[in-house]
Amino acid sequence: MKVLLVEDSIASLQVTQRFVEDAGHSVITARDGEQGIQQFLTHNPDLVLLDVNMPNMDGYQCAQRIRENCQQGNLWIPIIFLSAEITEDAIVKGIDSGGDDYLPKPVTQRVLSAKLRAMSRIADMRKELEEASARLKLLSSIDGLTQLYNRRHFDEVLELEWSRAERTQEPLSLILCDIDHFKAFNDNYGHVAGDDALVRTSQTIMHTLQRPTDLAARYGGEEFAIILPATPTVGAMVVAEQMRKAMDALAIPHDYSNASNIVSMSIGVSSYYPAQANSSFVALLDAADRGLYRAKKNGRNRIEMQPL
Ligand code: GH3
Ligand code: MG
Ligand code: MG
Ligand code: MG
Repeated sequence: MKVLLVEDSIASLQVTQRFVEDAGHSVITARDGEQGIQQFLTHNPDLVLLDVNMPNMDGYQCAQRIRENCQQGNLWIPIIFLSAEITEDAIVKGIDSGGDDYLPKPVTQRVLSAKLRAMSRIADMRKELEEASARLKLLSSIDGLTQLYNRRHFDEVLELEWSRAERTQEPLSLILCDIDHFKAFNDNYGHVAGDDALVRTSQTIMHTLQRPTDLAARYGGEEFAIILPATPTVGAMVVAEQMRKAMDALAIPHDYSNASNIVSMSIGVSSYYPAQANSSFVALLDAADRGLYRAKKNGRNRIEMQPL
């Protein structure tokens, strides 16, 4: 571990530093609370050992400031107080100001090293929990069949990108796709073949997207939605046409479609220009959907742009 040791007495500092180093950890030091916070921000330690009585800023204030900072960064690191003052009041104040333990000074090598082990065990468990919860969050944003983002995540991102577009005054484009005569495909080739076509269509859509900020989602059964931030209508039309062509190239046979003899998509495109329109992301979705409806009506396997 990387341990930050905050202690104003040079004698205590030297002894404690040696104990910590002998236990196999590296040490960064500070001589008062102010310096402690500076060192904390610069070095990102895994644990803090904190004296209580110090000039300028005492240990309690220092712990409070470190906790405030951790909250902003959404992390937790253990803080252990070391003090010769071991009254009930002092211990309670230490815990209340953000400390996790309170050890009487002088501390022995064995006790300090055991406490460091205990704290690093807790820190490890917390890290594992955080990683597991990040994995769960990602899983809950992904559609199981296609591995595209799901509708829930799409809705969140669209709202976010809408606000970003308003802030940056850049256009935001939306593409809605719907596979043509997909019910007939399922009825004739079976659901397993249907699922496979959905997966391959999703991969084709993904491969068409170039920018890391573009986002493709499975919007419904055989419907897909693509968010294109900082993209005007012409750009979105190019992407939509690339998708349509990529489906041509994929060429999954579909003898029961009267749009073409392969699996194809009808596509609706709409864009939001913050400088002109005073609108909402719901209206943008609705416009793209009207474009899609027109594409279906005009013969399918085509793209229609619908102004907002
Ligand atoms: P249109 O060209 O007008 O869009 O006709 P369509 O048949 O594609 O549209 P409709 O909404 O009538 O049917 C959509 C079909 O998509 C229904 C269902 O058979 C199929 N579908 C939806 N979700 C899934 C899925 O997860 N797996 C499979 N295999 N099929 C699905
Ligand atoms: Mg002191
Ligand atoms: Mg549909
Ligand atoms: Mg369809």
